[in-house]
Amino acid sequence: MNKVNLHTKAYAKKLDDNDELRKYRREFYMGETIYLDGNSLGLLSERAEKSVQEIMNMWKQLGIEGWTNGSHPWYYLSEKLAQTSAPLLGAKEREVIVTGSTTVNIHQMLATFYQPAGKRYKILADDAAFPTDIYALKSQLDLRGLGEEALVQVPDRDGILDEEEIIDRMNDDTALLFLPGVLYRSGQVLDMERLTKEAHARGIMVGLDLCHSVGSVPHELHEWGVDFAVWCNYKHLNGGPGAVAGLYVHEKHFGGSPGLAGWFSSKKAVQFDMKHTLEPEESAGAYEIGTPHVLSMAPLIGSLEMFGEAGIGRIRKKSLQLTGYMIDLIDSGIGSGLKVVSPRNPAARGGHVLLKHEYAAGICNALKAEGIVPDFRAPSYIRIAPVALYNTYEEVRLAVETLKRIIDNEEYLQFSNERGTIA
Ligand SMILES: *Cc1c(COP(=O)(O)O)cnc(C)c1O
Repeated sequence: MNKVNLHTKAYAKKLDDNDELRKYRREFYMGETIYLDGNSLGLLSERAEKSVQEIMNMWKQLGIEGWTNGSHPWYYLSEKLAQTSAPLLGAKEREVIVTGSTTVNIHQMLATFYQPAGKRYKILADDAAFPTDIYALKSQLDLRGLGEEALVQVPDRDGILDEEEIIDRMNDDTALLFLPGVLYRSGQVLDMERLTKEAHARGIMVGLDLCHSVGSVPHELHEWGVDFAVWCNYKHLNGGPGAVAGLYVHEKHFGGSPGLAGWFSSKKAVQFDMKHTLEPEESAGAYEIGTPHVLSMAPLIGSLEMFGEAGIGRIRKKSLQLTGYMIDLIDSGIGSGLKVVSPRNPAARGGHVLLKHEYAAGICNALKAEGIVPDFRAPSYIRIAPVALYNTYEEVRLAVETLKRIIDNEEYLQFSNERGTIA
């Protein structure tokens, strides 16, 4: 068999020509750079921009009436966006609500579902978790007068978790398992179905943080029986900086009271009766707290619509081809000092690739000087996310060729090996 050269422009072009999602790129403001940081902040699409303008026009023209009239009545917007989000989570529409921020939603879920009782009081999480998750877990322990000894963190090896080890740590003192769907650094996808099954078999409740998996990998939260989940909408879902987040609660938990109540937890029909006794919604809507941040939800009307059309199955397929292509290019082109940390097994790899190099910050600064936007993670990691809806194979090829040149010629030595404020 003839060996094809992955490194040619012609090879990348063929992949781009065969890309069934390529029409979506035209809808995004791509700017002048090769943007490979969509897992930190997704780009703006024309559709998202249009939906922001629609909401602004409603405000302009309808004033208070915008809550119940117009094209996207604000009073029902959290539920409406939950309907468009549900297929990405594999959830029933009523199990999802678009509300709050990831961190606030973690607090809401913990305040509701973390019920330490007697000997069963520990939370099982992991050493590679995003800091805010750990801060939130610790403050929830604090609020209940429990010490940090109640938080058990399974160690990672270079950002990779061993599922056997997680299962081994599930004990009869574990009340709650709280894990990411995709690890934010290594991009490892955890087997959420298996871990949920193993936890439930031991009487342990399961919560997931899906910030890096929503919009990049498919989920079947309802079928897997996951108890609750949270995610943000500004990474793979392109909802804009600080976009309102999402949460999921399995329908088996409907009818309970939220740990953190507010008037938007109420059944909608009686909310404006203004009684002092809360009747919580019998859906994920019970976990809303106050008035929704309508302006920060507006871009999601347009951006989630694109996910509905493109379908998470096709997005996942292209995403794996993009990251697979990147890894193949690196393996066959870049020698010394650069290590691919993310799993090579496609089933265990999320929507981004993590690379490790001693001069990672310098390399990122050199890439930026070339108009390529990666993401640096302290202390020595480069995170690269080729996004299915807007990046091309040619961009991946160009990024790797540039990376190769920077490393081969040690060009990174001309740049500072310090991170910026946001990295
Ligand atoms: C991005 C991210 C967050 C961010 O939380 P915010 O409340 O939106 O600031 C939390 N957890 C994980 C795993 C993330 O990747």
